[in-house]
Amino acid sequence: MSTHTVIPIQSDAGSCDTSPLITTERGQREVFCGLTGIIWLHRKIQDAFFLVVGSRTCAHLIQSAAGVMIFAEPRFGTAIIDERDLAGLADCNDELDKVVDKLLLRRPDIRTLFLVGSCPSEVIKLDLSRAAERLSRRHNPAVRVLNYSGSGIETTFTQGEDACLNALVPVLPTLPSGSKPRLMIVGTLADIVEDQMRRLLTDMGIRDVDFFPPRNSTQLPEVGPDTVFLLAQPFLADTTLSLESRGAKRLSAPFPLGVEGTTAWLQAAARSFGIPPNTFDDVTRAPRQRAEVALARQRVHLSGKKIFFFPDSQLEIPLARFLQREMGMQLAEIGTPYLHRKLMAEELALLPAGARITEGQHVENQLDRCHAEAPDLVVCGLGLANPLEAQGIATKWAIELVFTPIQGYEQAADLAELFSRPLRRRIKLAA
Ligand code: SF4
Repeated sequence: MSTHTVIPIQSDAGSCDTSPLITTERGQREVFCGLTGIIWLHRKIQDAFFLVVGSRTCAHLIQSAAGVMIFAEPRFGTAIIDERDLAGLADCNDELDKVVDKLLLRRPDIRTLFLVGSCPSEVIKLDLSRAAERLSRRHNPAVRVLNYSGSGIETTFTQGEDACLNALVPVLPTLPSGSKPRLMIVGTLADIVEDQMRRLLTDMGIRDVDFFPPRNSTQLPEVGPDTVFLLAQPFLADTTLSLESRGAKRLSAPFPLGVEGTTAWLQAAARSFGIPPNTFDDVTRAPRQRAEVALARQRVHLSGKKIFFFPDSQLEIPLARFLQREMGMQLAEIGTPYLHRKLMAEELALLPAGARITEGQHVENQLDRCHAEAPDLVVCGLGLANPLEAQGIATKWAIELVFTPIQGYEQAADLAELFSRPLRRRIKLAA
């Protein structure tokens, strides 16, 4: 079963615009599940533990996605739901309580424990929110227990982060009304990127800045009507709604990818805090110019090349905007698992006329279109990358774009290089 609908965007004037052309399709999908988010979330929130309540498959996924280079005890694990649980022969809640007790006894450094739901826990309808409440009471005040779902049923892999942050929003402390306005940057950023962003914002005079998620779960930022927030990642639709329900206001901006995106993103904060344009220019000039020089070296490899995005990370639209506008690439098709029009409004406005966006996936049809386009580079999940490579098509794994620091001026050229490297490798192989 599949569906296919074409929806042209309406321009402000109400007339039918050709830019961009949005198609929705439904069918077989090739995406990772939300458990994958644990890999970057556990690195970021350094006193949290992520306990997947799932099957051996879930455990294998997490272990292989985390890689084999684990030198310290990892801060994630799996409570395996086995055949007895599935057959209803064991009380899953009792088993889970025992696993959690043992874990917390052995790991007194844990301050927040996330129970992460999976396909199996959803199938047997294990109520993890009640389990989290019960365990929170039991281990209070040393450990807070929260829950979210990382299941792969009808979700894509970056939704794991959205679900995790969304679970944290209700426990954020309240910013007293009438406080000085605070800026919250929402979405996991590598520590190095966070430090750069904080420095730029501080240098232009914005000092009351919080990052969410924080590096430490006991230092959750306050939120309230005096909070304005900027999304650092485009896949945080539910977290956005929850923050808004706590009174925070979102600043509309493109995402901080490339020089143009980073500048516009910082400008949104600067405007909101009344920073004079000349101060903004003084603070951003040097890193902006450095990034422009570094990008010029990458443009040589990318300009004129055609790129095709399969839907996976939800970063596809901002990436396409960066690669087309700053790197001179041609956009064949931009697949995205979901299109949050409000969150993407600023990005959509920057795409060229006629850019083709596909929301959702019918993988066979999309592969046919990909072959017909004969792109130079395809961005896709791991499951599609190997077959496409075998057919002589250069690919980039979408998941790498979430694992790598790519936001901000200093990372702009690294971001471009992630796309130029597979092209250069293919040229070398062909030589
Ligand atoms: S949550 Fe679902 S999709 Fe993800 S590894 Fe477990 S069973 Fe597979």
